Amino acid sequence: MKKENHLMETSPANGTEVIRFDGVSKWFGQFQVLADINLTVGQGEKIVICGPSGSGKSTMIRCINQLEPHQEGTIHVNGRAVHHDMKGLDAVRREVGMVFQQFNLYPHLTVLENLTLAQVWVHKTPRKIAEEKAHHFLERVHITEQAKKFPGQLSGGQQQRVAIARALCAGPKIMLFDEPTSSLDPEMIKEVLDVMVDLAEDGMTMICVTHEMAFARRVANRVIFMDAGRIVEQAPPEQFFGNPQTDRAKLFLSQVL
Ligand code: ADP
Ligand code: MG
Repeated sequence: MKKENHLMETSPANGTEVIRFDGVSKWFGQFQVLADINLTVGQGEKIVICGPSGSGKSTMIRCINQLEPHQEGTIHVNGRAVHHDMKGLDAVRREVGMVFQQFNLYPHLTVLENLTLAQVWVHKTPRKIAEEKAHHFLERVHITEQAKKFPGQLSGGQQQRVAIARALCAGPKIMLFDEPTSSLDPEMIKEVLDVMVDLAEDGMTMICVTHEMAFARRVANRVIFMDAGRIVEQAPPEQFFGNPQTDRAKLFLSQVL
């Protein structure tokens, strides 16, 4: 008989594992921010992570590309164990694109230059090819007409779409989103979520920290709920929203829904 357990590990549907956390813990000084995280993400999965502020969501996803080092346990990305001092961390970061709440665009560069900078200087892509790629991804986020503008001349929603296009230029296999719509005015949230839905429908593996529960219901195959540095529940969205198992998740949902 299938064991009903809200911590049950859901294994990747198609078998190809792209991210794996085994017993990962992390401290900031004396403060334990992640406590024994175990998680497997399969290729093509769309995972939404939610939970109270300070529960470790950002830290957990930042460990995937080692923007934050972990101290205990192992993290595998596409089969490789990642560490902050490993050789080949650049390659891991190319495979794992990241979009932040603050768009982190270079304000003194045009949109096009924001998209070509790393391609040309870090990845040594010829400028012409880098620009073609940039235009391709600007088209995908519906923002081609803004290529020569500076970030400050764009709306927040447009800037965030540029940030997504910039991440896509590196050819990532996995995209991490950390509250990508949290600093946007309500009318701009949809245009960013629509781009994320498109990306999901194209088959991108995605891990999104977001409190956009309608997005989670529509796109996620799994919702992970964190509290105090732990994964407290994980379930398909209909199950998580319809029948949360823990008091902590019930309380959280009563506050965000
Ligand atoms: P969330 O994204 O769920 O809001 P975070 O991962 O940002 O949570 O942070 C989890 C906890 O770790 C918070 O208490 C936060 O204050 C703390 N924290 C985050 N980054 C640092 C840091 N660089 N140094 C010390 N404490 C930090
Ligand atoms: Mg956060």
